[in-house]
Amino acid sequence: MQLSSETSSPPLNIATPRAGHDIALKAINVSKRYPTGVEALKNVSLEIGEGDFFGLLGPNGAGKSTLIHCSTGLARPTGGEIEIFGSDAVDHYEAAREAVGLAPQDINLDWFLTVAETLDFHGGYFGMRKKERKERVDELLEAFSLTDKRHERTRTLSGGMKRRVVLARALMHRPRLLILDEPTAGVDVELRLELWQYVQQVNTEGTTILLTTHYLEEAEQLCNKIAFINGGEIVAEGTSGQLASKFGVSSLEDAYLALVGRKELSRAHVGEDSP
Ligand code: ADP
Ligand code: MG
Repeated sequence: MQLSSETSSPPLNIATPRAGHDIALKAINVSKRYPTGVEALKNVSLEIGEGDFFGLLGPNGAGKSTLIHCSTGLARPTGGEIEIFGSDAVDHYEAAREAVGLAPQDINLDWFLTVAETLDFHGGYFGMRKKERKERVDELLEAFSLTDKRHERTRTLSGGMKRRVVLARALMHRPRLLILDEPTAGVDVELRLELWQYVQQVNTEGTTILLTTHYLEEAEQLCNKIAFINGGEIVAEGTSGQLASKFGVSSLEDAYLALVGRKELSRAHVGEDSP
């Protein structure tokens, strides 16, 4: 069974149904100043509801990865608080980390492991029992069309296959919050569409998703809520439509251009003050 066969797709993630709507991620006045003096985050506050497909959109260097690293114990904020499903993600990040599946921007596979081992070891870190791990590995390999690659070492895979393994690994322990840091940067159109399909299915099944991207089209297609981040600050937030109307334009792209002061680049030619 493959994901592409719509009716028979196996579930990629089975989030435990819960009453009401929890807050998946809450950032309160988070700041991060690196030892180099760079202020990567300035008083960032953000709330992602359970079940949301949340897009964090901003140019390179805006602070997207830094916010993710601060939320997953990979970097320490210099101010503020972050909670994941109510657990402190900074000082007590173990519980928070358990709830999160992270597909980092830079592919960080162990090149000496096979595809199946990569998933299996990850499940082991999260305390999954052997039988459960085996079933989950089989299920994910099937869903991501990786079954015939299960015994191949990750270093021998194509770029697209590596991306799939990273995503499957992030889902291995059935996280309630899946964080995807620029999953499609530099990947070809085909793989991008395929990844979109995977993550949409995961979201439909109840998993909350935080996606960072600098592709407006991607955020527009996938996300029910979007925040613009620029220079370490959240500068606008809402649905794609709300953001457009906030900036008095008709598309997310034009809202973004208005935000960065480049309205003249609009493809819709709606800006009366365009040259
Ligand atoms: P994005 O993911 O939106 O492209 P980043 O969070 O990677 O942005 O970077 C935000 C800013 O912080 C940039 O100016 C970047 O150069 C800087 N930065 C990121 N990581 C580090 C680091 N480990 N040390 C010093 N500066 C960093
Ligand atoms: Mg980044």
